[in-house]
Amino acid sequence: MSDKPLLQVKDLKTYFFTASGTAKAVDGVTFSLDSGKTLGIVGESGSGKSVTSNSIMRLLPKNGKIVGGEILFEDKDLAKVKMSEMLEIRGKDISMIFQDPMTSLDPVFTIGNQIMEVINAHQKLSKKEAREKAIQVLQMVGISDPEQRLKAYPHEFSGGMRQRVIIGMAIACQPKLIIADEPTTALDVTVQAQVLDLLKNLQKETGTAIILVTHNLGVVWRMCDTVMVMYAGKTVEYAEVKDLYANARHPYTWGLLKSMPKVTDDPNVPLASIPGTPPDLKLTGGSCNFHNRCKYCQEICMKESPEMKEVAPNHFVACHFSKEELEKMGGSIDE
Ligand code: SF4
Repeated sequence: MSDKPLLQVKDLKTYFFTASGTAKAVDGVTFSLDSGKTLGIVGESGSGKSVTSNSIMRLLPKNGKIVGGEILFEDKDLAKVKMSEMLEIRGKDISMIFQDPMTSLDPVFTIGNQIMEVINAHQKLSKKEAREKAIQVLQMVGISDPEQRLKAYPHEFSGGMRQRVIIGMAIACQPKLIIADEPTTALDVTVQAQVLDLLKNLQKETGTAIILVTHNLGVVWRMCDTVMVMYAGKTVEYAEVKDLYANARHPYTWGLLKSMPKVTDDPNVPLASIPGTPPDLKLTGGSCNFHNRCKYCQEICMKESPEMKEVAPNHFVACHFSKEELEKMGGSIDE
């Protein structure tokens, strides 16, 4: 077995070309992921987390382009393979789960038709074999009476069941990597937990790697091995999950962690938030992208973009200042 990571993304840059300028939606992102492991990508809207995952799948709108870097999946650079090859890889080697199960399923076809279509796209099976496989898939994702359920239409399923079907379609061809973009955001809290447990259990059985895109740090804690925090198109912190929670070092990560609701919170005290708004992605570069919201901003932060530095084993941070220097400025996660 190869000891190379399953996926290595190196200095990925994805830009959007608009009439009013070039938006650097992803601007130099680097990470890797091993088989059987889960990476969480967190950040607020517009941070580049979904564009990063859509770049891996080459699912970009016409005005979006990968302008630099590599996406090494096994021995292929997905940034450069022909689209015909990418169509083979999608669904078979890499699957994607989107946020809203209703828009991911076609309302005019039965659940069975849609699962069998995915299976038939990548495997040469007879109709009977494909149907049997679809039944197995529904069983795997915990849907009872699967033979009857194959005949149902999406509107006959609850939101949680539809998301189970989507997960089933994602695993139908035993992909090596699943990218789940906010897979539980559209679901009730109790169903969210069931769907996350299902994904985790399927991962244990199949050894697939997962990239989980989320804005929810609680989900990261529950599901992930490593986490990458993104802000305005750049990675600001990247670490093993336990290390990040115990020893976060970037002021933006502190802000995210502080804004997580806790059961011990006083309901009369408003949740902590990060004041200000993210920068216009057409104007970033040449400074720390977080400088206009950072309490510890110094002159250098407005003149130079900080490089990623390894500050502890497997813990990378992009800030001009060390944790100790920030602490001397009065900075801490509790501040
Ligand atoms: Fe804040 Fe400067 Fe660090 Fe950016 S580089 S996070 S502005 S202290």
